[in-house]
Amino acid sequence: MGGGGGGGPFGVRRPASSAIPVAAPRLLREVPIVPIDLRSDTSSTPDDEMREAMRRAAVGNDGFGEDPTVNRLQETAAARLGKEAALFVPSGTMANLVSMLTLCERGDGVVAGRNCHMLTFERGIPALAGIVPLVANDETGAPDPDEIRALLGRRSFVRPRVLAVENTHNFAGGVPLDFAQMATYAALARERDLKLYVDGARVFNAEVALGTPAAELCRDADVVSFCLSKGLSAPIGSLVVGGAKDMSRAREMRSLLGGQMRQAGVIAAAGMVALEKMIERLADDHRRAQRLAEGLRGLAGLGVEPPHTNMVRMHVARAGLDAQGFVKAMAARGVLVLHYSATVVRMCTYRDITDADIDATIAAVRETMAAG
Ligand SMILES: *Cc1c(COP(=O)(O)O)cnc(C)c1O
Repeated sequence: MGGGGGGGPFGVRRPASSAIPVAAPRLLREVPIVPIDLRSDTSSTPDDEMREAMRRAAVGNDGFGEDPTVNRLQETAAARLGKEAALFVPSGTMANLVSMLTLCERGDGVVAGRNCHMLTFERGIPALAGIVPLVANDETGAPDPDEIRALLGRRSFVRPRVLAVENTHNFAGGVPLDFAQMATYAALARERDLKLYVDGARVFNAEVALGTPAAELCRDADVVSFCLSKGLSAPIGSLVVGGAKDMSRAREMRSLLGGQMRQAGVIAAAGMVALEKMIERLADDHRRAQRLAEGLRGLAGLGVEPPHTNMVRMHVARAGLDAQGFVKAMAARGVLVLHYSATVVRMCTYRDITDADIDATIAAVRETMAAG
């Protein structure tokens, strides 16, 4: 099975616009099917309403603060998070770097979880900003408050300025931090005179999963960032949100990094649709992640963690098959997944992933685990 055109579980047809990703393994380019891409919700595509909004977007020069669509997006984002102002940036990575440059000076320290995206999948904070990471255990998704206290009590010439938390926590498997946990970090930050930063790339997944508004979860945060380009399905863009004074400095830092854009209303228009229409439907992604996990539970050699939001983490523990081998075997069956370590594989749901895709994925995993 696997390669047979419209037949079998991978005969799922995609819209013509959804071509095989350029980065697809060589193997996949030779197979006449469109893969099911569960690697990341960053593979989500803009829907027709977004494309139409982009076509019609009123634009101006955002370098002069004159793009009406960007301004509307920034105002909407600030209001949604209960903060004074917001800044539109090209990516979540730049949002994190701009935020740290806004809150720290070179040589200052940022207290964060060891596995946070900012320090594991990005490098700019130490490499470009000269900010020193001070890390605590965050295996569960929530950085250990006792370890943070110990870290802050240590004699050091690094001045800690920011406490950074990730909500939802990516590496731990999309773990949402609830209001009580967020309040603990807020109290810790206040007690130690630190700024509180929330990398909320997927903060609306937390909102939907917990039933607590993102504004409430981030009530005590000085600066928050979130991505439009993940579960919210926009093609490009993130927002940095916070106080007016911080956002004015953030604008300077964005310019320093070359992130100043011009008629960015074209992409901000998709972001408006993301904020207005794509938040509630994240519940569908969470439901599909649950269904995927349930379908895989009990398979020999596979430990499936109960999903928290739109991610399913699995431990591959079959003799002769590690996570990377599993990824390859799945790709050969037309399903793209991501290995996170030697034994951990991640699968992610988003708007383009249908119930039929979930069924096909379950079938592919069963075959992979059963294969000699
Ligand atoms: C994806 C992600 C980012 C970075 O966003 P990009 O738009 O991919 O640069 C930052 N933080 C977290 C927690 C993420 O998951």
